[in-house]
Amino acid sequence: MPVSFLMPTKVVYGKDVVLKNRELLRNLGENFLVITGKSSRKNGGLEDVMDALEGRHVHIFDQTPENPPLELVPQICSMFSNSEIDVIIGLGGGSPMDTAKAVAVLLMNPQLDAQELYDPTKYDTAKKLICIPTTAGTGSEVTQFSVLTVDGKKKGFSNQCTFPTLSLVDYKYTITMGRELTVSTGLDALCHAIEGYISLNATPFSDVLALESIKNIRDFLPKVLEDPENEYYRERLMFASTLAGMVIAQTSTTVAHALGYNLTTNKGVKHGLATAVFLPFELRHAQTSKANEVNALFDGSLYRFYDTIGLRLSVDISDEEISKWAQNTSTASHLKSTPGSYNFDKLVEALREVRDVFCEA
Ligand code: ZN
Repeated sequence: MPVSFLMPTKVVYGKDVVLKNRELLRNLGENFLVITGKSSRKNGGLEDVMDALEGRHVHIFDQTPENPPLELVPQICSMFSNSEIDVIIGLGGGSPMDTAKAVAVLLMNPQLDAQELYDPTKYDTAKKLICIPTTAGTGSEVTQFSVLTVDGKKKGFSNQCTFPTLSLVDYKYTITMGRELTVSTGLDALCHAIEGYISLNATPFSDVLALESIKNIRDFLPKVLEDPENEYYRERLMFASTLAGMVIAQTSTTVAHALGYNLTTNKGVKHGLATAVFLPFELRHAQTSKANEVNALFDGSLYRFYDTIGLRLSVDISDEEISKWAQNTSTASHLKSTPGSYNFDKLVEALREVRDVFCEA
């Protein structure tokens, strides 16, 4: 069977890559809109971008919350609709980058309603988009995906036009991340790599990237928690996160992501943690040689790895919530690419196992 690989984003990777590539950035336009959150003022990201764009018109939206709601997108567009923006910069973790993708589409196609982002037949253009990640986890800088919150649920859209034009990836912005954010984003990247590896959409190309990513996270996430300012460890995790993003750009994510969204939107559990807790179940239930191979990379079980980094969830989950979430997840598109079949009962089983193993409320 023929296989394909598409990742049309130009990626420039390395330390001080924003300052060293001023011309690359500046040549994309005159008017820039930076979409970011609060942390880019602390980790040096915003300062580098402003420095690189000196002399250009730069507008800043720095109020992106975690798990941004869809309604935020038209609000940002109306704030800047008269500014003749040429280029959108998503600077931060997944939330600013995913918001930037949506803004890039709506500013280019002002006739669209925000809900129409979810109908990829309605548009095929977006403003030029630059992504600059400041966490090592989401991989959004090399994917076409944007996940926003719609009516209290996480909902993703994707379109070939929402691949960033340019991604500037510098691990130095991650050095100031605290332990909790390092763990949750590192586990998100691990989920992308593992889910992509066992996905029914995996290809020989994505597999190479996925395995390299998994091994780097296995080896360096525990180390970086011991020595958070170690630049080599931080660089390895950033590398792994970008590889894992390239993987899901091919395969998309699987049932662990779909289940994890329930914990994030209803209980406020960080996305990476909320997803990672479902991986051991997913790997066991997959019953494929690739899933076994992944378990073998972790000495037989991911549980041991999770113990070393102290993964626990401090939330209460009721039986009613489990049924509701299993119902929600039973229609998720992720199930199509997940090995093993997941009916309502199987999803309940996965949710119960996570409650039994990880919840200490
Ligand atoms: Zn994710």
